[in-house]
Amino acid sequence: MAKGRVRFRVERCKACELCVKFCPKEVLALDKNSINPMGYHPITAVREDACNGCGICAVMCPDLVIVVERE
Ligand code: SF4
Ligand code: SF4
Repeated sequence: MAKGRVRFRVERCKACELCVKFCPKEVLALDKNSINPMGYHPITAVREDACNGCGICAVMCPDLVIVVERE
């Protein structure tokens, strides 16, 4: 299976959770231990090992926060 890694421009995240809802592998979640400059808990990868590199999260994000790297 394809493997992927996700990187985030966390300062742009508005915590809308669209990416969380659409990720088929439940990789993503808001980081409750962090607050970005806009005052939101930003996105993070909680199950990065499960990422398949599909890129759906990056397509769904309206704020271009997510960059997917395929391995
Ligand atoms: S690339 Fe696909 S599997 Fe990986 S975090 Fe994004 S939506 Fe989930
Ligand atoms: S990364 Fe994008 S889609 Fe995901 S919560 Fe942040 S703003 Fe929303």
